[in-house]
Amino acid sequence: MTVETFHARQALLAEGWAEDTRISVQDGIITGIESGVAPAEGDQRVDHLLPAMSNHHSHAFQRAMSGLAETRGSGTDTFWTWRDVMYRFALAMDPDQMEAVATQLYMEMLEAGFVQVGEFHYLHHDRDGRPYAEIGEMSERLVAAAEATGIGLTLLPSFYAHSTFGGLPPVEGQRRFICDPDGFARILERCRALAASRAGVNVGVAPHSLRAVTPAELEQVLAMADGAPVHMHVAEQIKEVDDCVAWSGLRPAEWLLQNAPLDDRWCFIHATHLTEAELEGLLAAGVHMGLCPITEGNLGDGISRSRAVFEQGGSFGIGTDSNVSISIPDELRQLEYSQRLTHHNRAVIARQGASTGRELYQGARAGGSAALGVSTDLGAGAPATFLAFDTAREPWLQRDRLMDRWIFGTALRPDGLWVRGRQVVRSGTHVERERIEPRFRATMTELMSVTGLI
Ligand SMILES: [Zn+2]
Repeated sequence: MTVETFHARQALLAEGWAEDTRISVQDGIITGIESGVAPAEGDQRVDHLLPAMSNHHSHAFQRAMSGLAETRGSGTDTFWTWRDVMYRFALAMDPDQMEAVATQLYMEMLEAGFVQVGEFHYLHHDRDGRPYAEIGEMSERLVAAAEATGIGLTLLPSFYAHSTFGGLPPVEGQRRFICDPDGFARILERCRALAASRAGVNVGVAPHSLRAVTPAELEQVLAMADGAPVHMHVAEQIKEVDDCVAWSGLRPAEWLLQNAPLDDRWCFIHATHLTEAELEGLLAAGVHMGLCPITEGNLGDGISRSRAVFEQGGSFGIGTDSNVSISIPDELRQLEYSQRLTHHNRAVIARQGASTGRELYQGARAGGSAALGVSTDLGAGAPATFLAFDTAREPWLQRDRLMDRWIFGTALRPDGLWVRGRQVVRSGTHVERERIEPRFRATMTELMSVTGLI
């Protein structure tokens, strides 16, 4: 039995900022929180303490191509040209390389302040498209990466079967993603077995998108969900919306509103191109809006209706998706600025008189965690998972000013981060960085060579 105590000069609790807060922790779980008390001998002292962020959407292997898909091609560069580079990496990576890339990525997420990641995982099979001897091999590697770094992992194995609407056969570049319902059930079973034996791992299901899944298959996958989170890419691209209309006469969100049992277990990833009526229907059903602002900007997807989501009290989170950049302030700033530029206003995602930085952070934290079926709230009985900032360098940045400085200012990162009572980031750096980074560097050298990018 390990008992520890923390003392925060300022702590962001559910009811707001509290001074002189003492948090007692036993075996990684918070046993008590008390404010207005002086520090005692043996307390681990921090300056500002915050509940930590969830990242609801990641494709870990894509971290390898960060910075490698920004050269303009001939003609117009689009999502679809980016996808060609992505497939080169997807087809090249073996399980060891996957683990090395995911470990580096999860370490970077923790350094950024993310403590939980939703891994929307579709790179299931061997390079020739055949299942590995252990069909969940790649899922196991993701779990190993999470364990090596300490990040909480929501495994979202993806069902992917077709190249586009109408159940068309997959293309060659998709061969590692493809499952039939039986194969998917075996992967899901393996993921659930992995989660059952580990703290900090839970499992949902991810029918990839309406273009990759037929209505009959969607029904089969949902029957396997068993009350767990359901994540799906929806209405990311205008072409996808147009193709869906050509197939069914309905837009993707419209089709799902009419044909799927939507509720608050569902997270629509992107949900960029929605009509007012679609958004209203989705929020009434409790569907989470799985925003990925940096990736949507990087891919030129479009601008979400986030102001309306916020004003109508909808649930939203942030996901790093393509993992081109790992940063909470960059995600939230991109989200807010896209709305400012659209509506010609300032401080869009905030109630009157409130700090935009804090409202963005707390909104995305609560929504992202709910979408992953976890909680990152601070309270008795919750995991002792939180981050800390030291404001000694800029002492005028207290409480909400710190939040606004972090989200809208330059290069501030959490000084410390604890997951289930264990400190994994110290002075801004992951405690295992020296061991993790060389392996990633060696792996990238191999991958650059096999993908033909050097
Ligand atoms: Zn995605």
